[in-house]
Amino acid sequence: MSDVPHMSAAEFRRQGHAVIDWIADYHERLESFPVLSQVGPGDVRAALPADPPEVGEPFADVLADIETRILPGVTHWQHPSFFAYFPANVSGPSILGDLLAAGLGVQGMLWATSPAATELETHVLDWLATLLDLPDRFRSDGAGGGVIQHSASDAALVALLAALHRVTDGRSEHEGVAGGRFAVYTSEQTHSSVAKACRIAGLGSDSLRLVDTDPRTLRARPDRLRALIDADRTAGVVPVLVVASIGTTGVGAVDPVAELAAIAHEAGAWLHVDAAWAGVAAVVPELHWLNDGLDAADSYATNPHKWLLTNFDCDAFWVADRTALVGALSILPEYLRNAATDSGAVVDYRDWQVPLGRRFRALKLWAVIRCYGGEGLRAHVRKHVALAAEFATWVRTDDRFELVAPPSLSLVTFRLRAGDDATRALMDAVNGSGEMYLTHTVVDGTTALRLAIGSPWTEQRHVRAAWELLRARA
Ligand SMILES: *Cc1c(COP(=O)(O)O)cnc(C)c1O
Repeated sequence: MSDVPHMSAAEFRRQGHAVIDWIADYHERLESFPVLSQVGPGDVRAALPADPPEVGEPFADVLADIETRILPGVTHWQHPSFFAYFPANVSGPSILGDLLAAGLGVQGMLWATSPAATELETHVLDWLATLLDLPDRFRSDGAGGGVIQHSASDAALVALLAALHRVTDGRSEHEGVAGGRFAVYTSEQTHSSVAKACRIAGLGSDSLRLVDTDPRTLRARPDRLRALIDADRTAGVVPVLVVASIGTTGVGAVDPVAELAAIAHEAGAWLHVDAAWAGVAAVVPELHWLNDGLDAADSYATNPHKWLLTNFDCDAFWVADRTALVGALSILPEYLRNAATDSGAVVDYRDWQVPLGRRFRALKLWAVIRCYGGEGLRAHVRKHVALAAEFATWVRTDDRFELVAPPSLSLVTFRLRAGDDATRALMDAVNGSGEMYLTHTVVDGTTALRLAIGSPWTEQRHVRAAWELLRARA
């Protein structure tokens, strides 16, 4: 039998240096690429061999293909003129932290499978709670605590499962959840992940009640929530979960969390707060108002993988009381039994999430927090918020444009007064130019463009250039 062709340590070192060089060069030449990939469907596959190689190839060939076959099909999320969706920004410390996690290659499903993976995660989420000035109830030294989820969608799903556990006294795990018996409430502006969670949890999408929003602020209306809950209770339907948003995906609206929480709790429902994009902005003291009402929330999620310089995936999820969460998700097969778990002295994060296995994701967040410090993170958020405010002042000076909502943090939503067709045509024109990339939403039945600032490389000149291009093509 021939030897297994593992990469030697010497070769790994050589190729590893080449990869780091490649990434550093990539970041330096980001502006030479069209922001939005210009390939058509099937182009990337057509450039790849039909069959896998029979004989192993040198890694250098893989790296060479990244340049020629992969990059054309990449949309450059770190490009300084990427303003689409919400950002998924990264940073040197985060990339290196993630690389270290890959190098260690641990699977941190239990405390016992790598104590550092669990304890660093608990610790870093306490740090993040401090940096964001979250209520003490989410810290790990009481009944609550934090965990890194894959995404805000996972956070919404596990919040729903915990809520079902609590409202049924644990019966939901055994009996299942018959459609029509339970209801979930959220605003029509809320991210689609909540509707998906209802489907996955087996409640069915009919269990989702959409709470009307105020037409001006697009905040969920507490009186509408109360009416929906009252109607359900009268009909014998059990309110399980209310999801409030801090920073909706469309326009960045912030729901009145405290009022929604009071209504939810009166009805025995769980209050989850989705602050996937906006939540991390609370690192800045002048934006602490973003946390208003959180001391009444049962769970809270924000994504360092969006705006806080940490590679996808990293959703920070906290619960005020971990009992229901663990109650809903804990399963202990014999092959996972161990003394540490039996002692009850440790956290096993597999009980806080849907899958069993988990990566050592705390390393990248730890690296980001240590290398930027509170000061650096504040400077990062403030810079983007200031750039968005400046862009909004420019929009106000051109009569052909109008703001759809006041700028929310680093997000500006605007449109052409000429209407939907003109607004969409403008979006297609600027995106097709390759010089910038933004996406759209629909507000009140009309199309609006969203300029979300979030690349670590974005400077005023990029935002200025985006505005000049929008004006020129309008
Ligand atoms: C982006 C976003 C989500 C979904 O985030 P994932 O982490 O990709 O699941 C959910 N809610 C809001 C408000 C978002 O902006």
